Amino acid sequence: MIAKFGVAGVPVNYKGKPNDFFYWLKGMNLNAYEVQCTFGFKMSDKTKENILKAQQEGFYISIHGPYYINLGSTNDAVVERSIDILTKGVELAKSINCNRIIFHPGGGHENTEQGRRDAIKRIIKHLNDISLSIDMGDVRFYPEIGGKTANLGSLDEIIEICQNCKYAYPCIDIAHLHAREFGSIKSKEILRAKLQHLKDKLPDKFSMVHFHAYTINYGDKGEIKHLVHGASMPDGSEGLPNLDWFVELLHEFNLEPWVISEAHDSQELGAKYMRDAYFGE
Ligand SMILES: [Zn+2]
Repeated sequence: MIAKFGVAGVPVNYKGKPNDFFYWLKGMNLNAYEVQCTFGFKMSDKTKENILKAQQEGFYISIHGPYYINLGSTNDAVVERSIDILTKGVELAKSINCNRIIFHPGGGHENTEQGRRDAIKRIIKHLNDISLSIDMGDVRFYPEIGGKTANLGSLDEIIEICQNCKYAYPCIDIAHLHAREFGSIKSKEILRAKLQHLKDKLPDKFSMVHFHAYTINYGDKGEIKHLVHGASMPDGSEGLPNLDWFVELLHEFNLEPWVISEAHDSQELGAKYMRDAYFGE
């Protein structure tokens, strides 16, 4: 069982040579890296080479897609472009032996109950169409929980997508979940109940869940800002979700965890904290 803990993008605190940051992360016993393809699934040969080298060093690679992927939009041109982008993402992932593509389900829908339901149906249809039109290999789509209430990607919307797409698995960003529900994860019991709900609804996919975990500030529209690892909320209260509860629950649910920290300017500290807690170090 290989537990994976790591960061998304090159940490701002890394000051060494551009392609050597894997060794820096490895020095902290981290072994996961999420490539941020914020502006499209493009990658230089040098980066690809570096990723393959990192994999030989024991790193596990996931890719985070651009924010403008929007399969649920009512605008056909936007949907066409999104299909094209995700298709390219699968090709890129295969070329670097990566099998997890994380992406946000998007907006562009009518933000009513019916509008959201229709958008989720469109996402399901298009994800299925993509996976039928190309060879997916070992690549899986990971729609992520969105941090803002206006975005698609509530826990149940992610579950619905994953229940209806063979190739879709859940990316559970516990901070986004907490923020979009206005600070819902106030206790370990609440987080446990959410994970249990996910397990009950997706029994065959639960073991493959991809996590993002860090603490977050939120307001009446959901996510405001990712917090620095260890920081309190602006009002002085404890930063939540509590990462100790989270790590304890990883053990409780017998998960082989794959966890990415997105703590503001301190991902490596958040990742190391969870990794060390997980291994009792
Ligand atoms: Zn994300």
